Amino acid sequence: MFLWNGRLVQEDEIQVSYLDRGYYFGDGIYEVFRIYDGKLFEKQAHLNRLFQSLREVRITLPWSEAELSAMVDSLAETFGKKDGILYLQITRGAAKRSHLLPESAEPSMLGYCEEVVRPVEQLKKGINTITLDDERWHKCHIKSLNLLANTLARQEAADAGAEEAILVRDGRVTECTASNVMIVKKGVIITHPNGPLILDGITKQVVERLAKLSGIPYRNAGFTLEELMDADEVFVTSTTKEVMPVTMINGIKVGSGIPGVITQLLQHGFEQKFKPAAAA
Ligand code: PLP
Repeated sequence: MFLWNGRLVQEDEIQVSYLDRGYYFGDGIYEVFRIYDGKLFEKQAHLNRLFQSLREVRITLPWSEAELSAMVDSLAETFGKKDGILYLQITRGAAKRSHLLPESAEPSMLGYCEEVVRPVEQLKKGINTITLDDERWHKCHIKSLNLLANTLARQEAADAGAEEAILVRDGRVTECTASNVMIVKKGVIITHPNGPLILDGITKQVVERLAKLSGIPYRNAGFTLEELMDADEVFVTSTTKEVMPVTMINGIKVGSGIPGVITQLLQHGFEQKFKPAAAA
């Protein structure tokens, strides 16, 4: 089933107007929720970020947060698979093409679930990455549909045989095309501070809590490209990548080229959050 403007419908009932501003301007926002064992993971954190994005782009929904939350639950219930994602996007809606925000457009909302398998092999071995200039705008904290810079950077990484691009702005590492990035140096986890230059990842939030629980020092101090290349461990975090070790950057091994001890500890802690029985 699909969630279309507040109702659960079949695919053929979805009718997107050719005037939808999501189509012309990428004028909208989205969220990707993770479903583990049929249940939505960190649902409230995703809803909080969704409403934060909506406020930032001045889209007002005709539904309350409680109503949207119930809709998301109903959609997830129709999924019928254990492991997946729930994709939800909201555009400003249909209006005559104009750069000015329309006064009376009705937001359009589309949601659906999709099966996703955990990248188990990569989680064990780590991924290969490259670094690229961060060419995105200065409002990366909004989960905007405008992902052209991200998709082009990701393709450049793929063309170079890498799974992700680590983005660098003015010599400092911000995040990746679809994940946050952290380094470990002398036992301390370091990542970019929240603000307009990165998305405040839900997985990043979980990792910060896990680090605190495990007594691992965690700093939102940011780090330079040089510090990235000199790190003991590097990992990226996202809803679908979880806590993913980075073992290669620009063809150079990170540390000894295998996932580090702190990364593995966080991976274990993360797994316990969604499958306590298996991890016990
Ligand atoms: N940064 C960017 C640019 C992203 O697109 C994403 C996820 O898609 C993340 C970070 C990680 O966020 P989350 O952990 O909420 O998936």
